[in-house]
Amino acid sequence: MVPLDFHQARAKVIDAVRLAREIPPMEDVALDAAAARVLAVDVAADRDSPALDRSARDGYAVRAADLPGELAVIGEVRAGERFVGAVGPGQAVEIMTGAPVPAGADAVVMVEDTHAGNGRVRIDRGVQPAQAINRRGSEAAAGEIVLRAGTRLDYTGIAALAAFGHSRVAVYRRPTVAIVATGDEIVEVEETPAEFQIRNSNAHSLAAQVTRAGGAPVILPLARDTVEHTRQMVSHGFEADLLLISGGVSAGKYDVVEEVLAGFGAEFYFDRVLIQPGQPLVFGRALGKFFFGLPGNPSSTMVTFEVFARAALELLGGETETALMMPWARLTREFRHRPGLTRFLPARLTADGAEVTPVAWHGSGDIPALTRANAFLVADPSREVYAAGEWIRVLIK
Ligand code: AMP
Ligand code: MG
Repeated sequence: MVPLDFHQARAKVIDAVRLAREIPPMEDVALDAAAARVLAVDVAADRDSPALDRSARDGYAVRAADLPGELAVIGEVRAGERFVGAVGPGQAVEIMTGAPVPAGADAVVMVEDTHAGNGRVRIDRGVQPAQAINRRGSEAAAGEIVLRAGTRLDYTGIAALAAFGHSRVAVYRRPTVAIVATGDEIVEVEETPAEFQIRNSNAHSLAAQVTRAGGAPVILPLARDTVEHTRQMVSHGFEADLLLISGGVSAGKYDVVEEVLAGFGAEFYFDRVLIQPGQPLVFGRALGKFFFGLPGNPSSTMVTFEVFARAALELLGGETETALMMPWARLTREFRHRPGLTRFLPARLTADGAEVTPVAWHGSGDIPALTRANAFLVADPSREVYAAGEWIRVLIK
């Protein structure tokens, strides 16, 4: 199979999942449990927003045609009440932020621009009609859709649900994600490894990434590097909505994952991507389920999940869009790499995100170095040298 570059591979994942996915089942959750969940229904405004013309300032409700000039203050109106009566020519009503604009008034002048005393207020400048007024329905008219199904709810979405009266909300069920780690040298976290063994960190880092991306991880027992045992674990894995396998996709004698997947009649979309870490990356579909064979080196597993598998998971979870934000930051020092591959290297962004420095590490298995990074530098395959002070893309961890 021809290896794909980073962008082609990501597009392939997104296209394949979009084409094949079905609308996930829904469940009802309380408003305060809905953050980070994916909305399953369109949500409309249940009334005009604002429901009436509302003052955006503390000040005076006036008739714009009267200004500049001196006006008689005929009363006051606070948020949470309605002014009885109307503002006539030459008159003003003292008004607080959020209070309904009294009948007759067509503008609000903020208190800082007024001189008040003895029941009168002087305003030395003219105003435009509608100044400092939030018009009825200007944010949303009753019945207008304010949130679309397929939106991942952030705190602004939660605010909208609350504002329009939803104490419960329909969201998509979280997709289940089976995680199968392979490798004869791997032992479970509770076990004491011999010097030649390694604890299974990938299953757990993946579970954390899956949870963050809105999935429900299911960690299966370790698969031994035999076709038979790996087949058994992978077979359980296909019961989930998405299957992630770590390790066993390189060209070694005991890398049996591709052979096992082929045995399930898998359709492979790619089995190599021009990135590092993570070149031997397998993406395909079998028994109606998508799977990823992620290379086993911890940073390869992490990066390939983040840039490819997360997109599949988010789309399977019913999200309309999946984003991979890679903003620019300035390098604090020169950076060189061998061109030809999109390279992801652990790096430290300053707290304001403006500057980035590579983190020293000893290769893709260096978990302690990964914990010191808060981002990955993303080096372009067509560039060999980035000078100090140049812009480079980063993937925030
Ligand atoms: P593989 O992709 O199977 O060739 O694995 C490459 C290397 O990644 C192995 O030699 C291990 O050092 C490491 N590795 C594989 N699986 C895991 C795992 N589940 N947890 C931590 N490290 C792993
Ligand atoms: Mg292995």
